[in-house]
Amino acid sequence: MVEYNHMTEQEGWWVCSEGRDLWLPQGQLPYGKAGELGLDAERARKIGEYQGRPCWLICQQQPTEMENVRRLLGINKQLFQLAGRGVQLAEFYRSHRWCGYCGATMNRSEKEFACLCDHCGERYYPQIAPCIIIAIRKGRKILLAQHQRHKQPIFTVLAGFVEAGETLEECAHREVMEESGITIKNLRYVASQPWPFPHSLMCAFTAEYDSGEIDIDPKELKSADWFDVSQLPKIPEIGTIARRLIEDTIVLCREE
Ligand SMILES: [Zn+2]
Repeated sequence: MVEYNHMTEQEGWWVCSEGRDLWLPQGQLPYGKAGELGLDAERARKIGEYQGRPCWLICQQQPTEMENVRRLLGINKQLFQLAGRGVQLAEFYRSHRWCGYCGATMNRSEKEFACLCDHCGERYYPQIAPCIIIAIRKGRKILLAQHQRHKQPIFTVLAGFVEAGETLEECAHREVMEESGITIKNLRYVASQPWPFPHSLMCAFTAEYDSGEIDIDPKELKSADWFDVSQLPKIPEIGTIARRLIEDTIVLCREE
């Protein structure tokens, strides 16, 4: 009984996630005691801290107010990252119930974020897919494109997944050539951002135009063009690394 009380008293932030969504009552990440929130803390796993308080993951669906983690993006970067970690881990556990080598049931490791096969001994870690994202500058202009995957009319920088056996730098040159037909120079790393849709790591770069004419890949892009930084179209929301890259490039352009 003491143990039970202890579990209901467990306090912190709660990521309840399944099927790539998480529980956001009134659009907020819930904070409080497990018992008061009606959560089963026995199934919880600590995934980090926010404002000095623990953050717990419970891999389960709530009956209402399950939402996409993107809802937290513009509100708080740190909270978005932590909740995104929870959603990503929940998805990892959901997709690793059986061993890919021998088909046996797997168990979650107590020591680390991993799944273990007791039958063949294989150990699985969360899959993370590196992706480059790149802002290209030509004098006072920036290359922005409308991507086929975006339903809203929004202009952003180029991006693409790293292929097997490829460096980030090679990927940047290849993706830019494939999508826009131009070559770039002075490639510079800027920053990275975990992007839990479903498990990317965005690696951001800036570069300068080198040669070629824009010739888009219609499978990836609807359009692409050079935009003067004083007359930009609708760009991605605050909190995204694309937005940061565009803002960094605006500063570089104004220094021209
Ligand atoms: Zn196995």
